[in-house]
Amino acid sequence: MRIVVGIKWVPGTQSVRIDPKTGTLIREGVPSIVNPHDLPAAELALRLRDKYGGEVIAISMAPPPAAKGLEYLVGMGVDRAILITDRAYAGADTLATSYVLANAIKKIDKEIGKVDLVVFGQETTDSSTAHIAAQTASWLEWPYIYYVRNAWLTEDGKLRVERILEEAIEEWEVDLPAIINVAMKSLKPRPVTLINKIRFKANPSIMMTWTNNDLKLDPRCTGLKGSPTFVAKTVDVPEVPRKKQVYVPKNGEDAAKWILKSLLSDEKASKALIKALKEGGDAA
Ligand SMILES: Cc1cc2nc3c(=O)[nH]c(=O)nc-3n(C[C@H](O)[C@H](O)[C@H](O)COP(=O)(O)OP(=O)(O)OC[C@H]3O[C@@H](n4cnc5c(N)ncnc54)[C@H](O)[C@@H]3O)c2cc1C
Repeated sequence: MRIVVGIKWVPGTQSVRIDPKTGTLIREGVPSIVNPHDLPAAELALRLRDKYGGEVIAISMAPPPAAKGLEYLVGMGVDRAILITDRAYAGADTLATSYVLANAIKKIDKEIGKVDLVVFGQETTDSSTAHIAAQTASWLEWPYIYYVRNAWLTEDGKLRVERILEEAIEEWEVDLPAIINVAMKSLKPRPVTLINKIRFKANPSIMMTWTNNDLKLDPRCTGLKGSPTFVAKTVDVPEVPRKKQVYVPKNGEDAAKWILKSLLSDEKASKALIKALKEGGDAA
């Protein structure tokens, strides 16, 4: 089986800033990590390869520093990694990103070997649109199943998957090639191993870089130019003023009295407390 895994190099923080002038993400000065929700996806791809043979290729469309993220995946055990990077891809929305990824998958399929499965994470921690897998499937016209937590091949060469919904587990069967997204936290990712790190040191060609010279996409369909969506306006989240108070109680009773006194001295809090007492009794 040849499996492609898409990973994204994201800021290692939830507080992503947006440039108010251009409406694009500010990545400078923010240390990055592999999107945590992509690790279960990589784990599933590696389990399938370990069981059925073949190879796993990690891809990421990102600026050059994302090579570090792909190196992490090589450390986990993927067989190759491809960084897709070009100035012409900068400022892409999800449509332009998935367009580039779909074309990279086509190129792998044509030049490296037939791709059977593409695995993505459920969503990212920075933009979290959860659009990429579905949009890539649309560009390729391949079937797509999301929230997968397990997958295996049937005797007639189809992929059977278990997918988690809020109150049910469903089983679906799909012809290959197909695209799946793996539900976040559904599988424990394997750690990076020293042996895989040494394998990469000994053979750095495991990692390739593709630019638009390789993909030859029309620059009008990539990056900012190929992005029909844009950030129209950003607003700062208003700060909620809080009165910080520290009290070291003598015992539990003292703590309860102090909390009650503090709540009753605040008009809003005391009204809420009285309402809760009237309605809830014990719960209040
Ligand atoms: C209106 C708008 C404007 C934007 N402008 C910019 C911008 O100027 N600069 C900028 O850097 N970003 C920008 N973005 C964000 C950028 O489009 C997205 O980060 C990117 O398309 C991925 O979307 P996502 O993070 O929501 O991924 P999701 O759809 O939530 O990701 C799902 C899965 O797809 C895979 N995946 C996601 N992204 C990649 C990738 N790049 N390579 C490989 N696999 C991937 C991962 O497996 C991931 O778990 C913009 C987004 C929007 C909506």
